[in-house]
Amino acid sequence: MNIIPTIGMETHVELKTNSKMFCRCYVLDTDLPNESLCPTCLGLPGSLPAPNKKAIEFITLLALSTNCSITNEGMFHRKNYFYPDLPKNYQISQFDLPVGTEGSLEIVVDGEFETVEIERVHMEEDTGKSTHIGSGRIDSATSTHLDFNRAGIPLVEVVTKPLIKSSKEAVAYIEELRQLVIDLNISEGKLEKGNLRFDANISVAYEGDKELGTKVEIKNMNSLKSLEKAIEYEISRQTKMLKSKENIIQETRHWDEKKEVTSSMRSKEGSADYRYFSDPDIPNMILSEDFVNTIKATIPVLPSEKRKVFMDSGLSIEDSNNLGKSSNWIGDFYIQVSEITKDSKASFNFITGELQGQLRKLELLSLPNWVTAKNLSEIIILVNNDKISFTSAKEILTKLIEEKLEPEEYAVSNNLIQENDIDEIGKIVLEVIDSNEEVIIRISDGEDKLIGFLVGQIIKLSKGKVNPSVAKELLLKEINS
Ligand SMILES: [Zn+2]
Repeated sequence: MNIIPTIGMETHVELKTNSKMFCRCYVLDTDLPNESLCPTCLGLPGSLPAPNKKAIEFITLLALSTNCSITNEGMFHRKNYFYPDLPKNYQISQFDLPVGTEGSLEIVVDGEFETVEIERVHMEEDTGKSTHIGSGRIDSATSTHLDFNRAGIPLVEVVTKPLIKSSKEAVAYIEELRQLVIDLNISEGKLEKGNLRFDANISVAYEGDKELGTKVEIKNMNSLKSLEKAIEYEISRQTKMLKSKENIIQETRHWDEKKEVTSSMRSKEGSADYRYFSDPDIPNMILSEDFVNTIKATIPVLPSEKRKVFMDSGLSIEDSNNLGKSSNWIGDFYIQVSEITKDSKASFNFITGELQGQLRKLELLSLPNWVTAKNLSEIIILVNNDKISFTSAKEILTKLIEEKLEPEEYAVSNNLIQENDIDEIGKIVLEVIDSNEEVIIRISDGEDKLIGFLVGQIIKLSKGKVNPSVAKELLLKEINS
């Protein structure tokens, strides 16, 4: 019988507000520890939290954009636990009345649409940061340093239903969620900076079983690559245990990036362990219909809508999805270019391959203003019409990024226009064959790689004006005739 994995994702999204969730401390991007603190985010006696309105607007925007129902009367709860990075001994979070419930997010996996079901979207505050000196882990550290700059930064937790079926799907989901929060302009969305942090709940069961297997939570995955590897590892670990009838225990496991294994951290707390109760310091949060409608009116073009526009231009689901994960100006530029070239695939390939590649090399984040959809299209059309080789197209693009020029004019004056006259090319081919009799004999003896040498001679003789594939075709025709 088949063993089926089931995955649920919990993702914390750090919002890009100016100030923290329940106090006026600035959100700072600094390596200096403990620069932005006050009695409230340190949880000192007598301090009182006051919710950040901008953060509530941001979470409402995210909940609406993931098709959630909005809870109009929500509540903040205290989630009690003791860690040194949470000095007030509880985290302000939401429990049974989260801002958003029962949503969904469209994703693309292997060129096909899938839907990830969202269970809840709730508001909470971040904790401080502990750095375990010596080993990196609390159990074997020589000392632990605490930085409270992060304590109290608004976090949105997005929890999916446990319906994700593979590591690939989990990765595609995080990529989509990341693009969404960037497009909504509510988070930097940088994984390397911890703006998005995710845990995976994984269980395995025999296909057809009515109940899910025991779930294990995996923490400490810092990149999409480690997310994929950790899920794969955990599925195979649990599958082996299930097959040999070992008891899988409910626990939290730590992904070890170096060893590429998960190891037990602690047995998993149930929600009863957290002693949730409503925070008596914060009144109920009323999200009026007016408020929700005002936020709804500010929803920008969503990643799923961008995908649709790219697909309508003629791109495949996969290409549309990839283009949607680039900066917005790339997508807009693609649309303008493909309208001129009338060739969506060639425009997509040239922009996402060659153009982005050259910009990356030059460490440019945007185009010089003289590189327009019009002159970039001119290059693509020259290639499409076999007037220039792809190598020449790359060269013209490099020049164009350096200085203003007209691609076709440049191609003409730099002798880059290809010879397309078959008779003319034929003459050159014959010339090369005549002067390489020995090579021809060796080719007929099976030394196929010498064909490339002759093609090179043809191109050289034509001063680079012959398209290599045309030259090869004519050459083989002559040799085999
Ligand atoms: Zn503060």
